Amino acid sequence: MRLSSGRIAEVGDGLRGPREMDAEGLHLFPGFVDVHAHWRAPGREDEEDIQSGSAAAAAGGFTSVVMMPNTDPIVDRPVVVSGLVRRLERESRVRAHVSAALHVGLAGERLTEMRLLKQAGAFCVSDDGLGTASAGVLRNGMLYARSAGLPVILHCEDHTLATGVVHDGLAASLAGLPGSPASAEDTATATALILAAETGAKVHITHVSTALSAALVGFFDGSADVTADTTPHHLTLTEDLVSTLEGLYRVNPPLRPESDRSGVERALREGVLDFVATDHAPHASEEKELPLEEAAPGFLGHEPAFAALYTDFVLGGRLTLGRLIQAMSCAPGRWVGGAGNLTVGAPADLTLVDLSEEWTVGRGTLASRSSNSPYVGRTLNGRVVGTIVGGEPVHDRTGVKFGARA
Ligand SMILES: [Zn+2]
Ligand SMILES: [Zn+2]
Repeated sequence: MRLSSGRIAEVGDGLRGPREMDAEGLHLFPGFVDVHAHWRAPGREDEEDIQSGSAAAAAGGFTSVVMMPNTDPIVDRPVVVSGLVRRLERESRVRAHVSAALHVGLAGERLTEMRLLKQAGAFCVSDDGLGTASAGVLRNGMLYARSAGLPVILHCEDHTLATGVVHDGLAASLAGLPGSPASAEDTATATALILAAETGAKVHITHVSTALSAALVGFFDGSADVTADTTPHHLTLTEDLVSTLEGLYRVNPPLRPESDRSGVERALREGVLDFVATDHAPHASEEKELPLEEAAPGFLGHEPAFAALYTDFVLGGRLTLGRLIQAMSCAPGRWVGGAGNLTVGAPADLTLVDLSEEWTVGRGTLASRSSNSPYVGRTLNGRVVGTIVGGEPVHDRTGVKFGARA
């Protein structure tokens, strides 16, 4: 493959250039795309900032990321969007798109000025972190987003049902913790799908974590402009971890029983769920090293995402490598536009992986400023060794393979 001016110029054998890269023994994939990340900037740079968040993304092989707006200040005004866009251009190692808020203050009441937010550089809108309280409000939001030409990313959660801190099931009962039922997600997902079909808005449902929500997404396939993702943690972990009572394992939506995990896995395998997104959510240790009930919800996501899925699913014979790459590169790349493919003329956004490398996720070795990864201490297979954005290396773990050749 020959790269020129930040794009893929030629694909074939025997190509030469002034700088060459030896990728012997490695796999080259279209750069991974993560449509769900919290880089905590502005406002909580002690947990993550653009530099560390984008370094974590690059270390995980992600070349494009969408940042969620629940920062401080909230990204609900054009001036905040344009300021963030300028900072990202200067400080981010990878392509970073800004999601602005759907409602002012994420409060689910007054719609943001979406046309102005788009002019300021917003890529989409979302109230992630929160569900929308009323169907009427959500419907208006979808109509306005559609007319403004902005996709909507929805965190589906009914807060009148989601009153607990973990999934309302056996593990919660045994641990004596208040649970939120699966219906908190399922009813909100059903509402979102019905309204998306009716309004024609471009809607993306993020972090689908129950078998029923996945089935509902499948039911609306073809009748609404809807895509959906699930996360590496909902695919690989279950509510069994609740028995540790550790704050690390609090996440929203919560870890579910095996029946939900396997339903979500099947939906991803069959393409009912379009892709994977990590919901990368750094938290300071004082917010996570607490009893589960008091901890902040969320996991780091970028760095171990590919390896966690490759180890459990591809090596486990449950997902083909091709489907995994579709779910991490091609499908989310189409969603953000112009990414996730290796055709001539496409941006030279590439991820190099050593599928044979075994590595242990270590607290001290993560690029993130935080360490709340549920995979810390786990040994995984398959490691991202190089990430290229617009033809330039942004992550190079070996220091050798990107070297210029005389
Ligand atoms: Zn969310
Ligand atoms: Zn989130």
